[in-house]
Amino acid sequence: MPGYLNIHESDTRNLTSWGNYPVVESSVFMCNDEQEARSYILNEGTTIPRGNGRSYGDSALGKNVINLLQLNKFISFDDQSGILHCESGVLLEDIVRIFLPQGWFLRVTPGTKLITVGGAIASDIHGKNHHQAGCFSSNVLDFRLLLSDGTCITCAPDQNSEIFRATCGGMGLTGIILDSRIKLQQVTSRNILQQTIKSENLQSTFDLFDKHELEPYSVAWIDSLASEKNLGRCLFMKGDFACDGNLNYSPSKSLNIPFYFPVFCLNTMSVKAFNYLYYNKIRDNFIESTVSVDAFFYPLDAVNNWNRIYGRQGFTQYQFVLPKEKSFDGLREILIRIHRSGQGSFLAVLKLFGKENENYLSFPCEGYTLALDFKVSPGIFRLLEELDKIVLSCNGRIYLSKDVRMNTAMFRKGYEKLDGFLKIRKELRADAKFISLQSIRLQL
Ligand SMILES: Cc1cc2nc3c(=O)[nH]c(=O)nc-3n(C[C@H](O)[C@H](O)[C@H](O)COP(=O)(O)OP(=O)(O)OC[C@H]3O[C@@H](n4cnc5c(N)ncnc54)[C@H](O)[C@@H]3O)c2cc1C
Repeated sequence: MPGYLNIHESDTRNLTSWGNYPVVESSVFMCNDEQEARSYILNEGTTIPRGNGRSYGDSALGKNVINLLQLNKFISFDDQSGILHCESGVLLEDIVRIFLPQGWFLRVTPGTKLITVGGAIASDIHGKNHHQAGCFSSNVLDFRLLLSDGTCITCAPDQNSEIFRATCGGMGLTGIILDSRIKLQQVTSRNILQQTIKSENLQSTFDLFDKHELEPYSVAWIDSLASEKNLGRCLFMKGDFACDGNLNYSPSKSLNIPFYFPVFCLNTMSVKAFNYLYYNKIRDNFIESTVSVDAFFYPLDAVNNWNRIYGRQGFTQYQFVLPKEKSFDGLREILIRIHRSGQGSFLAVLKLFGKENENYLSFPCEGYTLALDFKVSPGIFRLLEELDKIVLSCNGRIYLSKDVRMNTAMFRKGYEKLDGFLKIRKELRADAKFISLQSIRLQL
């Protein structure tokens, strides 16, 4: 094929995702369009699609990687229905920048806007409104998927529906999402009316979630090093779009962390001090404020490369969900275990999930999810294995998009629809083409 060699020039480099762990040598192919993707698929061996590398672990890592960030074109927008058709490498950041001034916003958005539409579908991401709005896939009308044999099919809830269900949350293991039609929601402001409420312990944290279950957006930051009578204390935040008609949005400016912090900077004392100061940043038990969309949904994006504060050895995020009836006891046990270990987490974010969807590997089930960041260190994986046991005993599961270490037994028990997924993956012959470090580790 003319130009074949040029087209397939891949760049071998050390690649990592957001946790900076692991770092692997990968051959990365920067794909410019659908033709190139097809030719690459047909002529190369195994590969794994990659968006913006904001997953924490090894789901977007492999020996060969196809990077889709150049598939970044908007195709059409219907300003009556709010249906946006775009390529899969478009960043949520660009959608917000272009459409918020026109009064449109994502229906489901994660805690960073620096991810692609393809990555949002492949992880079937959730936001602060899962209890009301479900996962990203509930607003996906359809997408085009490039399969291992180079053919392209359209998948929707009522068209190739099994493949749709396997691809939403399927971590890039069914094929390459080329473009998608997603539904945006109409909003009245670039501002959010936010209320922050302090809770003193886990029971009052749960009471707050119960009391505000009908609010569209809620999240709690938990002080993971508090203990005894303060165990599970939090800052609970809820909010909704203001009605001030102010759509004058421009993205917030970001600070930058220019280098990796030395190892000694982050230790139990600094985490404890941070947690103490953060919890006490509000003096009253309740404050109301008007904040920008960026401050409410994407506070971490305010600091570029914040992952470098964990040093060169990297970090991992442990995110699990526990079914509602087991959430309180399970979370209590996990927080006690973390406190005893002395390995606190800066970031300990608790959210409420609504009903589980039908997708084979989507993470959320009805209950509570906690996400904790830990620096990679000699003892950390042992601690996480102990936490796994608690999660399993509560019939919970771990989020694939954050995972870098779970074993197959944990995975199989957590994801009871796995066999259906594996069947589809085999039928599509995707198991011989789309392979990540994670899929090898989990025997997917
Ligand atoms: C600060 C921060 C906050 C976050 N908050 C949340 C949150 O609140 N909720 C949540 O759910 N997640 C959250 N995440 C995780 C993030 O949203 C997901 O990992 C998302 O998938 C990353 O998208 P990406 O474009 O960077 O994809 P990558 O990290 O590059 O890839 C992620 C997965 O998607 C697959 N993939 C990517 N593009 C395609 C494609 N075109 N076709 C097929 N497969 C593809 C990859 O193979 C891989 O398995 C957060 C991450 C960060 C860094």
